[in-house]
Amino acid sequence: MESIIADKIQNNERISDEDALWLLLHGDLMFLGEMASIRRKNKVGNKAFYQYNFNINHTTICENKCNLCAFYDNENGYTLSVERIQNMVAQAYKQGVNEVHIVGGLNRDLPLSYFIDMCRAIKDIDQKIHIQAFTPVEIDFFARISGKSIPDVLSDLKEAGLGSLPGGGAEIFSPRVRSLICPDKISGTKWLEIMADAHSMGILSNATMLYGTVEKPEEIIDHMSRLRALQDQTKGFCAFVPLAFFARNTKIQTSSISKETSGVYDMRIISLGRIYLDNFDHVKCLWMIYGYKGCQVGLDFGADDIGGTYFDEIIVHSAGAKTPKSATQEEICSLMRNMGREPVEVTSTYELTTPVEVLI
Ligand code: SF4
Repeated sequence: MESIIADKIQNNERISDEDALWLLLHGDLMFLGEMASIRRKNKVGNKAFYQYNFNINHTTICENKCNLCAFYDNENGYTLSVERIQNMVAQAYKQGVNEVHIVGGLNRDLPLSYFIDMCRAIKDIDQKIHIQAFTPVEIDFFARISGKSIPDVLSDLKEAGLGSLPGGGAEIFSPRVRSLICPDKISGTKWLEIMADAHSMGILSNATMLYGTVEKPEEIIDHMSRLRALQDQTKGFCAFVPLAFFARNTKIQTSSISKETSGVYDMRIISLGRIYLDNFDHVKCLWMIYGYKGCQVGLDFGADDIGGTYFDEIIVHSAGAKTPKSATQEEICSLMRNMGREPVEVTSTYELTTPVEVLI
């Protein structure tokens, strides 16, 4: 099996679902890394990408109360005003940030106009700020509370300055898994439909996969398979973003540390994503999930992007991530250079930004 798969990758051919399942279950880890590196070099050569970005989580109030989530807080939660958000972004902008990443809970007290005003207020600071905001789960919620269609919601937000969608809320598409970890969240099919709508309107996005909860290997392959199929149609996904699950403060039963994913398994997933998703240009190995050293290893297992500066990340840290809550450009570039990679600052849609001189 190994030689058949190696031939396909050497010839830049697609691997099958059966190949992918074999790799996940039986593939030698070093073989996975080697094959993923071939794919990665074909796509991006020696470059590694990052974003100079700022995270905003506008509300912790959420009616979905997903079992996987340690972020929502309906007792002592907060909601940020548009004015406060504008001030926060203005401060970050002064430090050179050129992108904001916005996600939050499903809060019925916030009308669609709040999100439109938020985008406009950020763009008022500088039209060049890239806004990556609102997962398909949130877009669906906005449509339900406003009575508008999904395309109309997306159109309103795009007109207000929305640049791209993050890839969150995908979790694992399998209905069995969703019924256990996020029963009230939109289905995997709906998530894909909303991404298809966004892509058709020129709104690009990422695609995540949350693994390490209750999924079976076949459900991982199914998830990737559905992403690959949509990408064949729309070419609208910028990056595949694997997310290892952190259990702390969530309702999921696998809450003991020993059941969290291992570093070896993380590398299997990242490299499989690169090998299988041959129509994705970029694979992320986020430093805030995998740590500084983990993301460096990930660069040798198919990843070409280790994430951004973030500034006070909340969501994965609520669930027990032990990484710092932000990183400097210097730290990110240093991590990449130490792996022999050429750091490139981009927006989340991989447009080059004005480079800031980094002295290392
Ligand atoms: S994962 Fe998202 S939708 Fe689910 S409870 Fe958390 S914030 Fe709400």
